[in-house]
Amino acid sequence: MKCVSCSRKPNEISEYVEIAKENDYRSADFAVRYEEGTYHYGYDLFCCTSCYIKMGMPLQNELNELYQKGCVSNGNEN
Ligand SMILES: [Zn+2]
Repeated sequence: MKCVSCSRKPNEISEYVEIAKENDYRSADFAVRYEEGTYHYGYDLFCCTSCYIKMGMPLQNELNELYQKGCVSNGNEN
C-alpha cells in the first residue's frame, strides 16, 4: 500500500500514524484502510492528504484513473 503520488507508505505519513494510535489500529495501513476515503482496495493505493490537495482535490473517478496507471509523476515530493 502506498500513496499513488509520493509513493510514501502509511507508516511514513504522520497523519495516518496518529489516526492508528488514536483508534488502536494495528498499523498505519489500517488507518488508511478504514479512514482514508481515497483508498482503493483493488489497487491497494491511496492518495495522501498533502498530495490530494496538491493535485487539486481530484474526484474519486479521477483518482481511479491514476490508480489504474499505477502511479503519477507529480513533481518531486521529498
Ligand atoms: Zn502522497
